[in-house]
Amino acid sequence: MTAPLTTAERAARRPYEREWARQKRFKRWLAANEGQAVCQARKGKYFCGGELTMRDGHLSCVWCALKFLGLCRDCLSPVVGGGNSIRCDVCREIERNAAAVRYDKRWPGRKNEESRVRMARWKAEGDPRYHSKQEYRKAYRAANPDKVRVWRAKWIRSEKAKAWHRAYNRRRVLEKRKMERNRARGLLEPRYCLGGCGTVLRGRWKKCRRCKISKYVRGLEVLGKRKPLATKAGQLSWHHWPSYSEFKTLYETFNRV
Ligand SMILES: [Zn+2]
Ligand SMILES: [Zn+2]
Ligand SMILES: [Zn+2]
Repeated sequence: MTAPLTTAERAARRPYEREWARQKRFKRWLAANEGQAVCQARKGKYFCGGELTMRDGHLSCVWCALKFLGLCRDCLSPVVGGGNSIRCDVCREIERNAAAVRYDKRWPGRKNEESRVRMARWKAEGDPRYHSKQEYRKAYRAANPDKVRVWRAKWIRSEKAKAWHRAYNRRRVLEKRKMERNRARGLLEPRYCLGGCGTVLRGRWKKCRRCKISKYVRGLEVLGKRKPLATKAGQLSWHHWPSYSEFKTLYETFNRV
């Protein structure tokens, strides 16, 4: 058993160890690039993919060399950050935008979908980023009414909006039917005529027939036309509640006078 190395001895060995490790990495890199068209260097999620060339009888990758030197691969200016940076700040932003455009071109609509899913998740989780985004969105819409008008018109005409409204109307019909059933069972308060006459209503009516035509009936009263009106359905008496067609006839008669 050998004695453990002293601090000084370990420090003395360090250059040798570094060189040994460097050569090991280089051999691994060479083996990975054997017969490859692009550089296979990788670190975590990073993959180089640079063009492989022969320089002075050695396999070489320009991107790896620039990364090692700490130079931007697009404009050759020094990068900011540790040894992992491959682009300067300006080129990084440019590349980020270009990548977003490329992604959108390759997968149309996926970005919007992803953003919507992310927002829904943030909302469900109560993430503060959801609220800050909503605040920004509100401010942006307030500052750009013209854009909002265009977006709204586009949305209203879209198939998606139509489908949404169809689904909404279906849902409302079912809800209302359920409410009617519950009213019939006495689980809900009865609905009274909005004309204030106290009649209990069912279905879609907001006013009873009498209150609904009261305006026209009053008009007929004023004009002294209280005598029954002849309709296709027969004689229409004062106490008779007209059907819709009869009501229409009444309305038309009144409007002609
Ligand atoms: Zn490389
Ligand atoms: Zn750059
Ligand atoms: Zn009424």
